[in-house]
Amino acid sequence: MSRSAHPAGPRHADVLPEGHYSAPPTDLNALDPKVWAQTVGRTTDGVVEVGGIDVKALAEQFGTPAYFIDEADFRARARAWRTAFGPDADVFYAGKAFLSRAVVRWLYEEGLNLDVCSGGELATALSGGMPADRIAFHGNNKSTEEITRAVEAGVGRIVLDSFQEIVRVAHIASSLGRRQRVQIRVTVGVEAHTHEFIATAHEDQKFGVPLAGGQAAEAVRRALQLDGLEVIGIHSHIGSQIFDMSGFEVAAHRVVGLLKDIRDEHGIELPEIDLGGGLGIAYTSDDDPREPHEIAKALTEIVSRECESARLRTPRISVEPGRAIVGPTAFTLYEVGTIKPLDGLRTYVSVDGGMSDNIRTALYDAEYSVALVSRTSDAEPMLVRVVGKHCESGDIVVRDAFLPADLAPGDLIAVPATGAYCRSMASNYNHVLRPPVVAVGDGEARVIVRRETEEDLLRLDVG
Ligand SMILES: *Cc1c(COP(=O)(O)O)cnc(C)c1O
Repeated sequence: MSRSAHPAGPRHADVLPEGHYSAPPTDLNALDPKVWAQTVGRTTDGVVEVGGIDVKALAEQFGTPAYFIDEADFRARARAWRTAFGPDADVFYAGKAFLSRAVVRWLYEEGLNLDVCSGGELATALSGGMPADRIAFHGNNKSTEEITRAVEAGVGRIVLDSFQEIVRVAHIASSLGRRQRVQIRVTVGVEAHTHEFIATAHEDQKFGVPLAGGQAAEAVRRALQLDGLEVIGIHSHIGSQIFDMSGFEVAAHRVVGLLKDIRDEHGIELPEIDLGGGLGIAYTSDDDPREPHEIAKALTEIVSRECESARLRTPRISVEPGRAIVGPTAFTLYEVGTIKPLDGLRTYVSVDGGMSDNIRTALYDAEYSVALVSRTSDAEPMLVRVVGKHCESGDIVVRDAFLPADLAPGDLIAVPATGAYCRSMASNYNHVLRPPVVAVGDGEARVIVRRETEEDLLRLDVG
């Protein structure tokens, strides 16, 4: 099924939608620090390096495609969030963005907590040494086994997502002789994406209990009656890749409104609110993300102001950034294969990976940047589409970008800002082997998730 049909025949460059791609950059060799990890630069030979190692050496040692994560940058971003929110708030890294045991250790060492949303993520978190009380368990359809494991492990909080789950978690906790700390996830009727948010009609989604019609208040009422639960607060997550703080403002206003209703009805002030994640990063030079300290200041002020006017004690705030911590810290390194110029249209540049290592372009029309990294070039810019090797015409990694016209098979190109939702969403489509994740820092490189092998594939296929 295609979402839009085009008449047969070539679509000429001059009928491509206006503004779909920007003009060629003035310097194709430049690396915009907004989209590249902190320690990325070019050596005097013009080869791109990260953590003190150049990409040609990395490709030789680890092969391509591969994800390279700048450990110092990851730690710095984690620390920046931690410091920005201070001791009176909690930062939960959203593990679904990218999770491995090394990452769990970095988070632990930098003082962050961790969100998980499946048994597999919980197992990784615990195995990586995250203390259970610093783990939050999410999800709209947690299984009985997952809830049982989470309660037994002693996770710090379970975020309850439905009326049925309130009863389910209470029952499991009681039968284990526990009282589980929980938050209730509400949908506040705000959905935010990038530069805009919509403040109505977005209760039509699978997550959370709607505030509308008193449903969230009813959920709190029921949860408060159950011995197996200790209700510590309300949770709201409004979207992803958000730059505009006004969506959080509306969400905080509505969540605080609920806290006030709870106080008025039950005489208790819930001690915590969680405002979720979703903060945007720069995928291209056109994006302007905010710094953690600006976000912390804005969110804390919004909540204090709302609480003051509702005459509530300001609750402890938690946030759940995933993409904003890990996204900018990694790039994917590919080797250029077939180059196919289509006259009057663009040049298709095929790489040795594709939608199996980055599904976001196909899935959400995500935008990415790309650069030639194994050398510099003075050639003219050429309009390219970077595509993968999969049997799917939608297998696009970078929809519209410019690369030097002398690009040749064997060159290395890299796509920055692939730390979040790339390896974690990777698939084995076409029985392609999922790439490794290599941590680089201080002149050393270490595999933290190894490359999949054909043996791995065949081990699952029991014949
Ligand atoms: C996905 C998700 C996050 C993280 O979102 P980012 O866009 O990566 O910051 C945080 N909280 C919840 C509940 C989520 O589902």
